[in-house]
Amino acid sequence: MKKIAVVGAGFSGAVIAHELAKKNYEIDVFDSRSHIAGNCHTERDAETDVMVHIYGPHIFHTSNEKVWDYVRQFDEFMPFINRVKAIFNGRVYSLPINLLTINNFFGKTFNPKEAEEFMASIGDQSITDPQTFEEQALRFVGKDLYEAFFKGYTTKQWGMHPSELPASILKRLPVRFNYDDNYYASKYQGMPKHGYSYIVERMLDHANISLHLNTKFERDMAAEYDHVFYSGPIDAWFNYQRGRLGYRTLDFVAERHKGDYQGNAVVNYCNEDVPYTRISEHKHFSPWETHEGTVIFKEYSRFCEEKDTPYYPIRLAKEKSQLKEYIELASGEKNMTFVGRLGTYRYLDMHVTIGEALDVAERFLDCETSGEFMPPFVVNPLQ
Ligand code: FAD
Ligand code: UDP
Repeated sequence: MKKIAVVGAGFSGAVIAHELAKKNYEIDVFDSRSHIAGNCHTERDAETDVMVHIYGPHIFHTSNEKVWDYVRQFDEFMPFINRVKAIFNGRVYSLPINLLTINNFFGKTFNPKEAEEFMASIGDQSITDPQTFEEQALRFVGKDLYEAFFKGYTTKQWGMHPSELPASILKRLPVRFNYDDNYYASKYQGMPKHGYSYIVERMLDHANISLHLNTKFERDMAAEYDHVFYSGPIDAWFNYQRGRLGYRTLDFVAERHKGDYQGNAVVNYCNEDVPYTRISEHKHFSPWETHEGTVIFKEYSRFCEEKDTPYYPIRLAKEKSQLKEYIELASGEKNMTFVGRLGTYRYLDMHVTIGEALDVAERFLDCETSGEFMPPFVVNPLQ
C-alpha cells in the first residue's frame, strides 16, 4: 500500500483522505489543533448546549449538484436560509440590499420596476468599469446606501478604506429588486443536523486512515510518504522566506443570556463607531432545536499577527506578488500538492473547498494510473 500524508483535518484534508482511503491508500492525517474540521469545527456549548461554530458562522450553500449530493452522504441537511439583518443609525434593515431595504431606507413604496429605475438614477453612471470596492458600490447602489451599509462595515472588516480594496469583494453580494432576502443566490442551502465536525468525523472514519491530532507536520516528515497533500499555510511550509502573507483575523467575544438575544442568526452593525462588525446567535443556526439559554458572539476584525488564526487572505498587489514567489518555490517540491484556503491563499467557501478537494483526489488517481506528473496545484492560486 502506498503511504499518503494529508496535512490538515479541515474539509480539504478530510475529503482527500476519504477518497484515497476508499482506493486502498494508507493515509496519515495530521492536524496541529486538538480537533478535526479545521475552521468549520462545531461543538456544543457546555453551558447552553447550543451547537456553536467555533471559528465563526458557517452556512452551507452551493449550486453544485455533485458537492450537494456528496456532503449529504455524511449527514442530513436541515432547512436553513441565511436572512441577514443590518443595523445603521439605530434602524434595522434587510441585507443583501433588496426591495425592502430600498423602500425602508428611502421611505418609499416602490415596486420592482420603479426601484430598478430609482437605483439606476442614484448610481454613479460615470463609473463605467469599477475597479475598487468603493467604485463598485457607488456605481450600483449610490452614495447614500454605500455610506450606510458598506463604508463603515468594510473599513472595520478590512482595516482599510474601500477605495483600496478590489471590486471583487463587493461582487459577492447581490442587489435585488424584489423582497427576496436570502443572503445567498445558491440553489441549495442548509445546516448539517449534527454539525460540520460530525461530517468530517464520518469522512475520516475508515480503516485506512490514521488521525494524528496535536501534531504539526514538519518538512522532515515528508520523506516517509509517497505523496503529501498540504492544506496548511503555503508561506509557513517555506518558512516565510518571502515574508508572511497578510491575513485578517477575528476575535469572537462570547456572551451568554437567557431566551432569545436578537431573534436572528446574524445581525450586522454597519456604523463605524460600533467596534464589532456583526453579532451571531448560534442557536438560530439550528432552528429545529430548542434551548432556554443562548450564546452570542460579537465579531471584531483586525490584522492577523504571528500567533493569531488566519481568516481572510488580504490578496492585494503586494500579497499577490509574494504569492507568485511561493508558487515558484512550490513548483520545486516533489510529490506534494498544495490545497485548500491556506495552501492556495484564497477565500474559499466550503462548497468550493469540497469541490476542489474532490478534483484533487480524482486528478491524483488519474496520474497514478497514467504515470503522469501530479502537479503542486490543480487550480492557479492567482486566479
Ligand atoms: P481549514 O479549515 O483552515 O483547515 C486547515 C487545517 O490545517 C487547520 O485545522 C490547521 O490547524 C491545519 N494545519 C495547518 N498547518 C498544519 C501543519 N503544518 N501540520 C498540521 N496541521 C496543520 N464557507 C461557507 O461555505 N459558508 C460560510 O458561511 C463560511 N463562513 C466563513 C466564515 C469565516 C469567518 C471564515 C474565515 C470562513 C468561512 N467560510 C465559509 C469558509 C470555510 O471556513 C472554508 O471553506 C474552510 O474552512 C476551508 O477548509 P480547509 O480545509 O481548506 O482549511
Ligand atoms: N459588507 C459590508 N457590509 C455588510 C456586509 C458585507 O460592507 O453589512 C462587505 C464586507 O467588505 C465584506 C463583503 O461585503 O467583506 C462581502 O460580504 P460577505 O458577507 O460575503 O462577507 P464574509 O462572509 O466574507 O464576512
